[in-house]
Amino acid sequence: MLLDGKAVSKILLEKIKQEVNKLDAKPHLVVILVGDDYASKIYVKNKKKTAESLGIKSTVIEFPSDISEEVLINKINELNNDKDVSAILVQMPLPKHINRDNVVSVIDPKKDVDCFTPENVGKLAIGMKPYFYPVTPQGIMIMLDYYKVPIEGKHVVIIGRSNIVGKPMAQMMLQRNATVTICHSKTENLEEIIKAADIIISAAGKKVVRCKMVKNNAVFVDVGISRDANGKLTGDLNWESDFNNFNEVVSFLERVSPVPGGVGPMTIVSLMLNTLASAKHMVILCLGAKLLLSTISLSF
Ligand code: NAP
Repeated sequence: MLLDGKAVSKILLEKIKQEVNKLDAKPHLVVILVGDDYASKIYVKNKKKTAESLGIKSTVIEFPSDISEEVLINKINELNNDKDVSAILVQMPLPKHINRDNVVSVIDPKKDVDCFTPENVGKLAIGMKPYFYPVTPQGIMIMLDYYKVPIEGKHVVIIGRSNIVGKPMAQMMLQRNATVTICHSKTENLEEIIKAADIIISAAGKKVVRCKMVKNNAVFVDVGISRDANGKLTGDLNWESDFNNFNEVVSFLERVSPVPGGVGPMTIVSLMLNTLASAKHMVILCLGAKLLLSTISLSF
């Protein structure tokens, strides 16, 4: 695989571990989990496990789904003031009676390792440097940089306009001088737009792209996660019979990030990078691997 997120994340995790080892005051990531959403519990468990494997202190605070917004906000304020806590993450989704915006707005932007606060999101939007970049787009940037995929001047098509993937991805690509098109469920002529792309980043969560829509030499980053009829994890790319021969398949595979094993591991490593940065009280000064890694003394 050209875009092997699992392999890249392994290299980076090892580097992060070495950096954490050097610190006297270890990073401390606190994850708040509200309710008992099955997928959220798995995500949180994986984050904790990865953090601990790197020597990062990790605490999960669980609340029942009927917790009030006020209690949740009070807890976040407490964590904001706790000098032992360097990173705060509120696992989404929250129960319907809790206003997500009210909750994320109180997180200290300097501890906002998921880049949810209006300050960090706003800074990203106007081209200022947020304290942290959002983890999935940052992970994608690092992966593309690792594989030396050119970005400047390229046409990047992003499928999806969510606050956690599509919109910040577009901002980060613009800052890297890409020409960006954002598509969504109401976009007309999706196939034509995809065919014109040099890089496609697909985060629809359903099979919206067929291999034949992707032009020769274009790179396809598959963010989507869904389950096929057999319950197997799958991405947004529909692999059905678009190839005439095996060579075509091999050539295509070299330009795709797989699901699982692509963006998923890069998202986790990106969260760990932000958590490391939170402990070092540093601002990640850049986008993408090159400067990001030099800022925290990591290099491939
Ligand atoms: P989301 O908030 O549900 O957004 C999905 C986006 O896809 C929306 O903007 C939607 O358009 C668009 N869309 C849906 N159907 C479409 C279609 N037929 N054609 C074009 N666009 C379409 O989801 P999200 O939070 O961004 O996540 C997207 C996917 O990525 C999910 O599968 C999620 O599990 C996965 N994900 C993976 C990772 C990872 O680490 N691997 C991280 C984050 C997310 P509208 O706005 O018009 O509704």
